[in-house]
Amino acid sequence: MMGTQLQRARNGEITPAMERVAERENRDPEYVREKVAAGEAVIPNNHEHDSLDPMIIGKDFSTKVNANIGNSEPESDIETEREKLHTAVEYGADTVMDLSTGGDIPELRAGQIEHSPVPLGTVPIYEALKQAGSPEELTADLLLDVIESQAAQGTDYQTIHAGVLREHLPLTDGRITGIVSRGGSILAEWMENHGEQNPLYTHFDEICAILAEYDVTISLGDGLRPGSLADANDDAQLAELETLGDLTERAHEHGVQVMVEGPGHVPLDEIGEQVEYQQEVCDGAPFYLLGPLVTDVAPGYDHITSAIGATEAARHGAAMLCYVTPKEHLGLPDAEDVRDGLAAYRIAAHAGDVAAGKPGARDWDDALSQARYNFDWREQFNLALDPDRAKEYHDQTLPEDNYKEARYCSMCGAEFCSMRIDQDAREGEEMEGLDADVDLADSPAADVNLPPTGKHDTSGLPTVPEALCDHAGGEGLPGDD
Ligand code: SF4
Repeated sequence: MMGTQLQRARNGEITPAMERVAERENRDPEYVREKVAAGEAVIPNNHEHDSLDPMIIGKDFSTKVNANIGNSEPESDIETEREKLHTAVEYGADTVMDLSTGGDIPELRAGQIEHSPVPLGTVPIYEALKQAGSPEELTADLLLDVIESQAAQGTDYQTIHAGVLREHLPLTDGRITGIVSRGGSILAEWMENHGEQNPLYTHFDEICAILAEYDVTISLGDGLRPGSLADANDDAQLAELETLGDLTERAHEHGVQVMVEGPGHVPLDEIGEQVEYQQEVCDGAPFYLLGPLVTDVAPGYDHITSAIGATEAARHGAAMLCYVTPKEHLGLPDAEDVRDGLAAYRIAAHAGDVAAGKPGARDWDDALSQARYNFDWREQFNLALDPDRAKEYHDQTLPEDNYKEARYCSMCGAEFCSMRIDQDAREGEEMEGLDADVDLADSPAADVNLPPTGKHDTSGLPTVPEALCDHAGGEGLPGDD
């Protein structure tokens, strides 16, 4: 048996995956090993996932962003899902989760794993439910079979809702939105119908043995996460978190790498406290949050409401953020929603890293600001988080090439461009005294947080949908042939 990254780190080994993430994060390989050995960081890296470029998730590294893709029964098809994978990787997703609940789920996933340079996560209970037909028909054996088959296929992490216990269910009775996690609601129905404990909890040691064999990271799902501000931080959520703390310890004993998932919907002023509490209860295991949304009143804009919460979470130590798209609560996202959701979350992750003072994070901002002050438009586009969007907006009013040298843009116009006026006023000695050179090549900035263009070889992935190319002014996206 090859051993998991956690087991090998504990044995003092610096693996090739650790070397690679150290290079990507500008960190010492021994520092990476120590964090993995302590369970404070994970390198999701299934032995069977050959196309993977390893990455690391932990609060002491740059904050990562996950994009959910996957179909649902009445919507979407395999081609569309592959396009979403392409878009997600192209726009900077650090991991993707395939949440498919319809169609030929294993076939769809096989294609994604074959091509994906980023870790792929799943929620096995979805496929198990599809096979069983209804929650009542689920069995422990079926759940274990699906977990094993997905592990053997090469999934890098799996969400397992083992922390939802029978005794927690009455605690959700007074909620406005009840149980909103799909996995949580399926298991709650099963427990009520069978009068038994959660099979993912009672068979947890067997699950860990399977995951350890392939080095699948367990992502302990929060099946009782709040679905509204009113339900945040309630007894049900906190009771489940205590159980997740115990399960973290047990999974670590099996040598399984662990992440812990978090909510959901949380008022802005409670987010920091919640992240810090999770870190305490789960012994520093990486915290992976969905959002959280800081208000419930903006359907259609939930990539924004949740990115505000995600920024606060990242500032306080969240290790990975699961993006939310503008379609949240409303419908299945399309490729353009994936792009918008990813942009919102990459902003949140980076802003959190800047605020937390992570090494080199601010250098990216300083380099772009310098290009802006120098009216170096091409460099501004290059450094932008979404270079296509920045260029597209600039060129809507000043498309000709000579405007790439202009000392103004159409926002204030030539006469009122404050940066041009400021520069003219400083002409001479004062300007020479400025020393704002930032060279990103010399910076300890995490490579992972720079614009995604060229980060991954996406040549094996299907191309971006035409509608998205039209939106980008008819130009192909970086990496397209
Ligand atoms: S015109 Fe205004 S927005 Fe445009 S570069 Fe000058 S100061 Fe900035």
